[in-house]
Amino acid sequence: MPAARCNHCGLQMISSSYPKAMKWYHDHLRENHPKVWLHA
Ligand SMILES: [Zn+2]
Repeated sequence: MPAARCNHCGLQMISSSYPKAMKWYHDHLRENHPKVWLHA
């Protein structure tokens, strides 16, 4: 199972597919760490 883990708050998400995990992480950064997202 692909998993994504946020380096900034430690939140983890297990997804059924790698693209879904990447999308979750992207959305998570944008919503929860907008400054990090801007610099990514
Ligand atoms: Zn986070």
